[in-house]
Amino acid sequence: MPEGSTQAAEDQTPVVQLDNIHKSFGRLEVLKGVSLTAHEGDVTALIGASGSGKSTLLRCTNLLEIPNSGRILIGNEEIRLKPASGGTMAVADQKQLQRIRSRLGMVFQSFNLWAHRTVLENVIEAPVHVLGENKAEAIEHAGELLNKVGLYAKKDTYPAFLSGGQQQRAAIARALAIRPKVMLFDEPTSALDPELVGEVLRVIRDLAAEGRTMIVVTHEMAFARDVANHVMYLYNGNVEEEGAPSKVFGNPNSERCRQFVTPRQ
Ligand code: ADP
Ligand code: MG
Repeated sequence: MPEGSTQAAEDQTPVVQLDNIHKSFGRLEVLKGVSLTAHEGDVTALIGASGSGKSTLLRCTNLLEIPNSGRILIGNEEIRLKPASGGTMAVADQKQLQRIRSRLGMVFQSFNLWAHRTVLENVIEAPVHVLGENKAEAIEHAGELLNKVGLYAKKDTYPAFLSGGQQQRAAIARALAIRPKVMLFDEPTSALDPELVGEVLRVIRDLAAEGRTMIVVTHEMAFARDVANHVMYLYNGNVEEEGAPSKVFGNPNSERCRQFVTPRQ
């Protein structure tokens, strides 16, 4: 390696690596060869118009959708896929799937909390019942996480009695409870009343400041610009523009990207 090279970071194993992902639903090709690499501490923002494939890319990352082709690596482990009917693929090893999923925390647009469980019960569910953690330890960890998202006082409350912003913060605590290597957010503030968006973005900002690796689909351009260190603009199933926020927002090559990121009055 040449002297003075900054190759060290490049040589680290990425936390997430998606390589040439293709995904079709029937005859509709939604992802047309998308690649994404995220290293430890990277905050990647996925932006683009509705229907461009952002959610599908995120869902392929945790195998909620199985790509038709391409490679997915989480840490140094590549997901093994096998051919299934009609040119689709399936996960080859369910144990591996569970192991990989336990490294990924996912937060959706709709909060998806268990309605008949308190906030605390929601947060300890996966650690205790899926990962087999000791319950007392899971409760202690959940308390720390609820503190972090500013919801400790609501730990014994049922979701129906929380605002949308509080529910989403509880959902973030729940996703963190499995101690994921990566957090995946799919438009975490889109379902919220405008006055509740800030409290959720603040929590995500704090996680970024802690150095957490995150991939965030968002329509909040100011947030993406501030918090992400890498921005990918998807258009029609392809990465049309990507790079540092200053580049993608300030001086994109793609005219379509420029139009997309330019605030409309
Ligand atoms: P985005 O999140 O950028 O809005 P999506 O990834 O949700 O885009 O969707 C991309 C395209 O794929 C859309 O045309 C959508 O209708 C289609 N699509 C997404 N999921 C499915 C599915 N399960 N079955 C069929 N079509 C789907
Ligand atoms: Mg979407």
